[in-house]
Amino acid sequence: MRRVRIVSKRRSPPSLAVVAAVGPRRVRYGATAMALLTSKLLTVPHGFSDRHGGVSQGPYASLNASRSVGDDGRAVDENLARLAALVGAAPDALATVQQVHGTTVLEATRAKGGAVGEALGDADAVFTRVSGLAVGVRTADCLPILVEDPVGRQVAAVHAGWRGVIGDVLGATLDRLRQNGARLEALRVAIGPAIQACCFEVDGDLPARFEAAFGPRVVRRVDGKQKVHVDLPYAVATSLRARGLGEAQVDVLPDCTRCDARFFSHRRDAGRTGRMLSLVRCAF
Ligand SMILES: [Zn+2]
Repeated sequence: MRRVRIVSKRRSPPSLAVVAAVGPRRVRYGATAMALLTSKLLTVPHGFSDRHGGVSQGPYASLNASRSVGDDGRAVDENLARLAALVGAAPDALATVQQVHGTTVLEATRAKGGAVGEALGDADAVFTRVSGLAVGVRTADCLPILVEDPVGRQVAAVHAGWRGVIGDVLGATLDRLRQNGARLEALRVAIGPAIQACCFEVDGDLPARFEAAFGPRVVRRVDGKQKVHVDLPYAVATSLRARGLGEAQVDVLPDCTRCDARFFSHRRDAGRTGRMLSLVRCAF
């Protein structure tokens, strides 16, 4: 594992005590070597994959979930079928989207058909009310966010890089869920492994934009350095609190995809790498 300099030993501000309240839970399924990182907060089958337990080779070894990064499509098919099985979904019951760093939300009423987990269209969030159908997003440093709505009986998967955090793709998703009967106070949200503040450095006008949107604690300045560290999960948790969600409704997994060699990392691997899949099955 490449060594990275940790600026602050404190991964997240004290206000995110919710991390300790719910915490991550790692579950293995059957006799396979695959495992999904899960949140104790969610009650429906779900998980955040790492890079182990698949059949891809080279920089995509081994559980790459994306056909758009140069990997062998047949290997990706197998990987996605295994991932669907981990949440109890058939290979033809996994719906994903072609992620474009926007704020479009798609509803999945069935999987696309054709290749396993083929994208329904351009969007960065996908939700479903169809029991048995799983929805997923692909990441390699960006934030994967899974949402469970036990009142409206629907689930969502959201992809948010810094553009999606500032653009509030998660808020757009919650608005769609509310149109289908969701009550904000009953939602459960899990933010999965992503690049954390230890590794996410930005410059230009981005630090000021984040401070304006999420308050001063979202950035960490280091004396003598032009770049500033931004805490993307904190920004998302802050926006959820602003919408009225309680701390017990939000689980922020602390894993950093760039620090931790278990994960694919776009930054660490200089762009030539695979993607994890974060998925949730509607089981209401
Ligand atoms: Zn890190």
